Amino acid sequence: MNKPLTQHVRPDGRPLTLQEYEKAGGYAAVRKALKDMAPQAVTTLVKESNLRGRGGAGFLTGMKWSFVPMNAPKPKYLIANADEMEPGTFKDRILLENTPHQLIEGMILAAFAIQADNAYVFLRWAYKQAAKVITTAIEEAYAAGYLGKNILGTGFDLDMHLHTGVGRYMCGEETALLNSLEGKRATPRAKPPFPQISGLFGKPTIVNNVETLCCIPHIVNNGAEWFKDLSRGSDAGTKIYGVSGNVKRPGAWELPMNVTMRELVEEHAGGMRDGYRFRGALPGGASTDFLVEEHLDVKMDYTSVAAAGSRLGTGTMIVLDDQTSVVGFVKNLEHFFAQESCGFCTPCREGLPWVEKILHTIERGEGKPEDLKLLEFHTKYLGPGNTFCALAPGAMEPLQSALKYFRKDFEMLIHHKISA
Ligand code: NAD
Repeated sequence: MNKPLTQHVRPDGRPLTLQEYEKAGGYAAVRKALKDMAPQAVTTLVKESNLRGRGGAGFLTGMKWSFVPMNAPKPKYLIANADEMEPGTFKDRILLENTPHQLIEGMILAAFAIQADNAYVFLRWAYKQAAKVITTAIEEAYAAGYLGKNILGTGFDLDMHLHTGVGRYMCGEETALLNSLEGKRATPRAKPPFPQISGLFGKPTIVNNVETLCCIPHIVNNGAEWFKDLSRGSDAGTKIYGVSGNVKRPGAWELPMNVTMRELVEEHAGGMRDGYRFRGALPGGASTDFLVEEHLDVKMDYTSVAAAGSRLGTGTMIVLDDQTSVVGFVKNLEHFFAQESCGFCTPCREGLPWVEKILHTIERGEGKPEDLKLLEFHTKYLGPGNTFCALAPGAMEPLQSALKYFRKDFEMLIHHKISA
């Protein structure tokens, strides 16, 4: 079986009720862990499974949990990052709307491992259906004794709350999320200290992505080796991959970690739509570098995508075709990032609108040859180490790789005012 996360997704799109989830084995992992395992043993198991964070960064989940001081006084917090706003990314929405108890079970297990007594689902504002589904599921879990005081008679207490964001991309960054949850402006915090030590209201906090948390019940039920074996390569487990763009069947599929980009585009997405040719793809949302035709056989895991010069990110790729203006494509992304900059640090606040303006000028056929140098300057100036968080460096990834692989498109517009 290599579909642990989506096995409960019903074809009619209705969320799985508590009874249906229990009938399919749901909450067995909570019973097992809370009754028969020490909290540290859950963390050790997750460490051994090599589960990497599915939000985009791929940090090892068990290692992250292990940084929480176990003897720190409560409160401690566990937060599900459901602020899914990365362009082209819609994988967590599937889990939130269809299998809410899988997420709640994963959150209870994570909270138990770090001995948190409070948990929040920080949900993207626009996910209205998910808000309804999660609200009902939390109520069901309380009524069944999976949440609240003395869960299943084990002495473990956990309260869970749903918090909807206000529709800012920045809140997906964990420390901006924490500020937002505290009622403050959603600007990122300096790290270190990492939230594991000083997070929500200065207390130890773990922030994990929805897909990451949904893996936990299956790891507890089936073991670390089982999880590793689901993958065809070095990075463990399955992954919900997605493809959007001018392909025949855009969508999302849970597949063994390590499928190739070609399999995703040609097999699962059905290939390009008639009349369109594949030129490249951003492998994991907008804030990743383009991969191109020569990379079609690259395996879509964290290690292989990094070796090819990009990042797996969220694993939901946006395909670029030959009928779409590369400059316009990248300009749209930079428009998004410029709008979503929190404005806290100067390079990001001032640089991103400038990049958007230059791209707009080139797109209109009014670009100058020196604009390419200016764009290249920005890819460095807004790159890693020069800004407070990863937003602007992420925004530079599609631009720097477009300048590398599709430079001719920019030059044709600048010199001949025509699209390549
Ligand atoms: P990051 O690498 O700084 O951190 C990732 C996680 O690892 C965090 O929880 C952090 O606390 C932990 N971590 C990293 N280094 C650590 C250390 N030395 N000690 C302890 N903990 C450590 O990345 P980030 O800025 O949180 O996230 C960037 C990623 O988010 C990008 O890959 C981007 O694609 C993705 N993203 C996703 C969405 C979405 O909708 N899913 C939205 C925006 C961005």
